[in-house]
Amino acid sequence: MNLSEPAAQADAPTAPDRQAFLAALTRLEPGCRVLTRREDITPYECDGLAAYRNLPLAVVQPENEAQAAEVLRLCHQHGVPVVPRGAGTGLSGGAMPITDGIVLSLARLKKILNIDPYARTATLQPGVRNLHISEAAAPYGLYYAPDPSSQIACTIGGNVAENSGGVHCLKYGLTVHNVLRVRALTMTGEVVEFGSLALDSPGLDLLAVMIGSEGMFAVVTEVTVRLIPKPQTAQVIMASFDDVEKGGDAVAAIVAAGIIPAGLEMMDRGATRAVEDFVHAGYDLDAAAILLCESDGTPEEVQEEIARMSAVLSSCGATRIQVSKNENERLQFWSGRKNAFPAAGRVSPDYYCMDGTIPRRRIGRLLTRIEQMEQQYGLRCLNVFHAGDGNMHPLILFNGNDPDEWHRAEAFGSDILEACVELGGTVTGEHGVGIEKINSMCVQFSPQERDTFFAIKHAFDPDRLLNPDKAIPTRARCAEYGKLHVRGGQLPHPDIPRF
Ligand SMILES: Cc1cc2nc3c(=O)[nH]c(=O)nc-3n(C[C@H](O)[C@H](O)[C@H](O)COP(=O)(O)OP(=O)(O)OC[C@H]3O[C@@H](n4cnc5c(N)ncnc54)[C@H](O)[C@@H]3O)c2cc1C
Repeated sequence: MNLSEPAAQADAPTAPDRQAFLAALTRLEPGCRVLTRREDITPYECDGLAAYRNLPLAVVQPENEAQAAEVLRLCHQHGVPVVPRGAGTGLSGGAMPITDGIVLSLARLKKILNIDPYARTATLQPGVRNLHISEAAAPYGLYYAPDPSSQIACTIGGNVAENSGGVHCLKYGLTVHNVLRVRALTMTGEVVEFGSLALDSPGLDLLAVMIGSEGMFAVVTEVTVRLIPKPQTAQVIMASFDDVEKGGDAVAAIVAAGIIPAGLEMMDRGATRAVEDFVHAGYDLDAAAILLCESDGTPEEVQEEIARMSAVLSSCGATRIQVSKNENERLQFWSGRKNAFPAAGRVSPDYYCMDGTIPRRRIGRLLTRIEQMEQQYGLRCLNVFHAGDGNMHPLILFNGNDPDEWHRAEAFGSDILEACVELGGTVTGEHGVGIEKINSMCVQFSPQERDTFFAIKHAFDPDRLLNPDKAIPTRARCAEYGKLHVRGGQLPHPDIPRF
């Protein structure tokens, strides 16, 4: 059997008999909620990428793992696709429903099952909110390090599926570095476990394959995460630059000096101005770019690291350096960065958040390219990013009621991602591929690499019912995309058959 590409349409599972399936759904245990009325399912038509929408057949909300397994078995029997969903804060359309499929919401599985302060672990159901983990661990002097800016709402199940990051991931790692064990259900409702509470686990180590698999391999029902001691103290430097390239170079210089800050974030002038009006974080509005550089540890460690970072920043041409004087001021400086996305929503009817990664030393070059693209597409772009990781979040401002503006925004976004690849980076950072970046995957990966991704998907979900048609593009899709993107008279990937 050829595992590389999805089977042709004729071999695909037959279209579900909607009525028989919906009747069977309503016979599930009463605790398992099934929503089918339009007004009930409309809130689930998209995730945080609201430009793409679809209504599902039904939204199913189990209250425990056994019910979730029963739903999966039923969907498998009827050939009905399943899109798992946490809080729906994803920004790449990963949780967008599929017509003729169901949304399996894990939001009601939200118990903290165990906090073990001796092992420094927490075991959680998938619907537990990211911030809630640290709140529950706080009485033990512990916390969960990966902190997406959406942490007040997003769930640990979604974090596992997207391998989410946050401002503290430069020092403490992404989700993949902080999860020990995942329990999940396959599309046939079978329980599988990845990783273990010990340092190693028997057999192939598939935990890292599962983390970042965007709901395409299995449905996460339990997660054990690593907790770490809360640092005694933390301080943040806000450094201003009169030129974005200088700010980008300072990021590379800090890391080259052997310093791994607890957070290293950058915002350009457009972003600081939008944020300042919103949360009054005290940002320098004259600066072309600001850097936020955090140090944490014992008071002595922090004092020493802040002095070293200040010296590097000055040598890189910082025009102003301000160190937080107390915890309130530190949180105030961070409040601006953490509210950058909603602030963009205040200055424009819509914004399109891109997510690509480049080597740190290329930050300045990418920002210059983005400035040129703003002229080319006639749209404004605010730049905020996890500078220490080289993870960029350009926010393209547009009006979604104007189809032409939306098409320009889409093309602008694709160009940014392709520029990331050209500069030695990737089309994905931490928001996943979903449907948003599926075409850009054609630019990044060869047909052979994409075949390998399909083969792994096939090993977990041979019937292609779990979040199908997301994240991995088919050859046909890439050929179609390649046909549309003729550059300098050259077709990308001329080896791909075109139809
Ligand atoms: C304002 C804002 C700021 C953000 N900042 C960051 C940031 O700093 N860093 C970052 O990494 N992301 C960020 N995000 C993106 C988003 O919050 C993360 O991707 C988050 O992990 C999604 O979690 P969720 O529970 O909302 O998942 P959803 O959006 O519901 O789903 C995301 C994906 O996970 C799958 N999924 C969800 N639950 C499960 C499960 N139990 N089992 C299997 N698959 C599942 C879905 O099918 C989908 O593919 C931000 C989003 C917003 C709106």
